[in-house]
Amino acid sequence: MSDAREAGEEESILACEECLSPAEAFAVVGNETRLRILEALWRADRPAAFSDLRRRVGMRDSAQFNYHLDKLVGQFVRKTEDGYEFRQAGRAVIRSVLAGTLNQSPELDPFPVEGACVDCGSGLQARYEDEHFHIECPACGRPHGVYPFPPGGLEDRTREEALDAFNQRARHLSCLSKDGVCPECNGRMETHVRYAAEGDAMGLDVRVDYECARCNLTTSSSTGLALLDDAEVVSFYRDHGVDLNDVPFWTLDWCVTDEHTGVESEDPWRLRVTIALDGEALIATLDGDLAVVGTERRSTGEAGTDGDPQDARGVGEAGGTEGPDPATASETVTDGGGTEGP
Ligand SMILES: [Zn+2]
Ligand SMILES: [Zn+2]
Repeated sequence: MSDAREAGEEESILACEECLSPAEAFAVVGNETRLRILEALWRADRPAAFSDLRRRVGMRDSAQFNYHLDKLVGQFVRKTEDGYEFRQAGRAVIRSVLAGTLNQSPELDPFPVEGACVDCGSGLQARYEDEHFHIECPACGRPHGVYPFPPGGLEDRTREEALDAFNQRARHLSCLSKDGVCPECNGRMETHVRYAAEGDAMGLDVRVDYECARCNLTTSSSTGLALLDDAEVVSFYRDHGVDLNDVPFWTLDWCVTDEHTGVESEDPWRLRVTIALDGEALIATLDGDLAVVGTERRSTGEAGTDGDPQDARGVGEAGGTEGPDPATASETVTDGGGTEGP
């Protein structure tokens, strides 16, 4: 596969002596014409002939165009029988530009979004700042999710569409990280379950930190977020007539708070998340890598509560006869979340 080969070659940007150093590589693409050539190649979406590329870039001087194209050939572009095409590094440059992380810093004023605050019940709002979407309660300041979203994702989308994309992105990033793959560099991602410090930015008591050994990317999430792609959880919702894929994660209290997360043991970590829906509860047990090691369904005997936190807490307490009281985590979280300012 060419992808595998390119991945190996990409590695050599840092490693091999004959190829460009990172500084030289950036110098090569630090030129308006060459970036336009890469962009033209991106838009061509297939190997492009010299004349086609030159026309797309809109450069009359063939010698000049050839000079710049030549600089890209090797590390960023390869010449084939069919024309010029991307190498992985060239594609990566254009992706960064398209993602908008290099040259854009847009902000969006707060706007109301679906869902109610897990602490005070007020309506939630979203705002976009520092390349992150923040879902929060304007009344009490309780955060309901803060995750990165490259500014390019705001283009050609309404606020609602951007938020929908954010929802999908956040859940996929979390699930990819949980599976040990860095969403930025594909490096090995390690999962660390920890007790959060007081006043945790996400209002959590137990938080999950993912750390990439290769690029040092660090992201954090609740325990619940890692369950969004779990087959048992998805079918539990489907059995109750809900497509979990369509539900914004910040409206799911078991994704936002630790009120439904119990710590069964710390060494090794055993966490239990209780998800209540329409008179039934799904109890998922996770290990320190957030792998689901067991699930169980129980009737809660209260139909139609639709995920009411009170309902789920009742189930948690009932389950507490099996191990350490799962309410321990929830009490601290409720306090911490309540005192947190905007
Ligand atoms: Zn609130
Ligand atoms: Zn990484």
